[in-house]
Amino acid sequence: MSTNSGVRHKQEKLIDRLSEVYEYTNKVLGLIAKEEISKEEAEWVTRQTVDNFRDHVNPGFLAYRKSVTKDGQFAAVEWKDSGANCFVDVNGKEYIDCLGGFGIYNVGHRHPKVVQAVINQLNRQALHSQDLLDPLRAMLAKILADITPGDLKYSYFGNSGTETIEAAIKLAKMYSDRITFIAATKAFHGKSLGSLSGTAKGVFRKPFLPMIPGFRHVHFGDIDMMRKTFEACALTGEDVAAVILEPIQGEGGVNLPPDGYLQQVRKLCDQFGALLIFDEVQTGMGRTGKMFAAEHYGVVPDIMCLAKAFGGGIMPAGAVVATEEVFKSFFPNPFMHTTTFGGNPLACAAAIATINVLIEENLPARAAELGDYMLQGLRSAAAGHSDKVMEVRGLGLLIGIEFRTDEIGYEVSKGLFDKGVLVAGTLINAKTIRIEPPLTITYQEADKVIAAFKQVLDAIRS
Ligand code: PLP
Repeated sequence: MSTNSGVRHKQEKLIDRLSEVYEYTNKVLGLIAKEEISKEEAEWVTRQTVDNFRDHVNPGFLAYRKSVTKDGQFAAVEWKDSGANCFVDVNGKEYIDCLGGFGIYNVGHRHPKVVQAVINQLNRQALHSQDLLDPLRAMLAKILADITPGDLKYSYFGNSGTETIEAAIKLAKMYSDRITFIAATKAFHGKSLGSLSGTAKGVFRKPFLPMIPGFRHVHFGDIDMMRKTFEACALTGEDVAAVILEPIQGEGGVNLPPDGYLQQVRKLCDQFGALLIFDEVQTGMGRTGKMFAAEHYGVVPDIMCLAKAFGGGIMPAGAVVATEEVFKSFFPNPFMHTTTFGGNPLACAAAIATINVLIEENLPARAAELGDYMLQGLRSAAAGHSDKVMEVRGLGLLIGIEFRTDEIGYEVSKGLFDKGVLVAGTLINAKTIRIEPPLTITYQEADKVIAAFKQVLDAIRS
């Protein structure tokens, strides 16, 4: 083949491939546009999803789903929401969503007010110019100053939880001119390198060591260890810039702080001139029965991180809210920490509508009420199963069920999945599974979850 015909052949192949891709995109866009799909289409979607996860996303996800679901259900492919608290898979099976997208659906799936706010904004302007002043950013920042505890006043916006932690770390460094951070064992703050430095799970950290310098971990809840670490840091000239904590640990297994712990941490921070960062990415926006978990303990942090449910389950959105004293480190050069899409108008519209709904529907109080109900119900269901269940604990609708072994946790997750209840382990471990439904879950749905849990426990031989 001459060079010219070789080039022509390559070009023709490229054109063929592009026309195939064009047809494929048309097919997918057609499916997205449909309200209902046929059985044949559902089969095509399932096959495409499984094949492409295996060949182009990560086959590990298929193996993972297989280990937490029964028989061939690992091929369960989600397709659409079903009311506020459920979704259905591509074959029409309905699941009560007790995972809540790891805590993103506080106001329910596709709350009409949040959807409408985003559509309204989208119809006018999708993203911001990046140069003129964008109004919704300003209004959302004012709203956050009003609803967050104490004198938290200025906000930086990002797109995810991990981005908010990165911003909080940089802010604390700018403010203090120190580089030492104290985080907690079992903490989860995200997986980008800064936030991963605070995250405590060895499996996620080890291949990427060394982390950013200056992070130390102390046992969550151990105030003596925290004090001694502060003292050691001061003695060695490595004064602490900030302590970063989830007020209630989510991914680490729904761990509540011991009485007085967070108040004592606040005192130590003040004594040693360190900042207190609360990561409320999972506990914020009403999840634990108050708008922010900090309110249960009467502790005001210097910096608070929000994400997950902040975007109302519609838009990715996150915020870092700090006191003026701290945030003013970013005043002289507002470009010290920026990101193109953070605080975009669609995300801000979603967050403003989310806060509106949380207030209008009194959802933090509902989380407290339904949380108590579910906690009691799950505890009763677990009674007589102490050979399997160690503890059912939680606050509001952040509930953890700890089992004697990982294997029992997997069996329970599988059994619940089979019965149409989606739950998840914590830190990819099923020893503690999480019940984290939308705050809009109904009593009837809660009863179904509790009954399914009891049936599954009864059916498992220890
Ligand atoms: N912080 C906490 C407490 C979280 O639970 C998570 C995610 O689970 C993160 C931070 C990271 O958030 P993202 O996954 O949006 O980066």
